[in-house]
Amino acid sequence: MKKRKSIHYIVIVIYTAVFTMLFVTKNYAGNKWPHHEKMAISLTFDDADETQLDIAVPILKKYNLKATFYVLPKTIMSRIAEWKKVIDEGHEIGNHSMRHPCSLNFTFVGDTENALENYTIKKMSDELVVSNISINNLLGINPLSFAYPCGQNFIGRGKSVKSYVPLVAKYFLSGRNYHDESDNDPNFCDFAQLNGRQIEDDFLEDKCLIDNCLKTGFYMVLVGHKLYNSSSELKNKSNIEELSISAETFDKLCQYLDEHKKDIWTSTVTNVVTYMNLQKGECSKEHLIQIKSKHLEVMLSCILAGILFNTFLLRIISFRNIMLIHILCFIVLNLFLIWISRFGYIEFFDVYLLLMMVAYSTGALIVIYWMQNNHKMCIHPDNIND
Ligand SMILES: [Zn+2]
Repeated sequence: MKKRKSIHYIVIVIYTAVFTMLFVTKNYAGNKWPHHEKMAISLTFDDADETQLDIAVPILKKYNLKATFYVLPKTIMSRIAEWKKVIDEGHEIGNHSMRHPCSLNFTFVGDTENALENYTIKKMSDELVVSNISINNLLGINPLSFAYPCGQNFIGRGKSVKSYVPLVAKYFLSGRNYHDESDNDPNFCDFAQLNGRQIEDDFLEDKCLIDNCLKTGFYMVLVGHKLYNSSSELKNKSNIEELSISAETFDKLCQYLDEHKKDIWTSTVTNVVTYMNLQKGECSKEHLIQIKSKHLEVMLSCILAGILFNTFLLRIISFRNIMLIHILCFIVLNLFLIWISRFGYIEFFDVYLLLMMVAYSTGALIVIYWMQNNHKMCIHPDNIND
């Protein structure tokens, strides 16, 4: 019986050690990006222009890349089913406001009611909420990221100008600016004001920016609008709007990202922001391990759960059955993760899962150790060893 007891003890030690190792190598190895990449990038598109569905989505599919599309409720109405399919394919839908308010200096704004100079915080707040509800009603998702129309994040004029960044920080996980000239430092950037760069209709220019970002290890966000299909359309300069890119340029860009996926992590804005959020709490700039209180709370709760649950189990079933229950729970949780990966969050949920497992196993270990030294405990007959 003594021998059997030590086997149980070893099994739980191995169980704990394996998950601790997985957890440590995965999250505390000192790497800034999840799979040892050198930088991260998000491809984003604004305004839900129909060419994004017709040209960008098939190219993204060809290279298995996921992008973030910032939409206004009114711009997706005519092709709802196709936008839903975009979500099913793993892309992210973000919010690009209700009415696309910008400074009246942009001639397309046209209406003084739509001019940021004439907005109030209350009006902006109401519209952000309404647009989120509308997008949810149309597509069945809650937008977690916002893109400032025209990259402008102020309201009012002169002495009464206010920023609406705090509103975006309140309602969203991230806000993306536009026409910026630098990338985002994962250790420093404000998620409510992520820098976004225009995708240039010149692959070599885009490549040059990406290659520079590879040296800094930062997070790059690229912004596109319309796309054009054929080079003949491109020759007709009058047809080209300033912000458009050709299908050919976009294809080359995606091909480059695909060929360099070892070094470049391409994912949706929310995926990258969620990852940076977790990393910020865990690794300092010098990659020192720092477990913040949030994680400590999770760990302590799980240790407690491990102690309580295993104490309870030891009274009613044998060690062998306890291990079977643990393995069953592990399989069920993994199936849950596979299901959740449909929504693109798996890379971040599993960090917590592993954390919980390690803490839970530690709790289980404490119980086993304690039971070993308390033979008089009222436990299941199979677990009494002498
Ligand atoms: Zn826009």
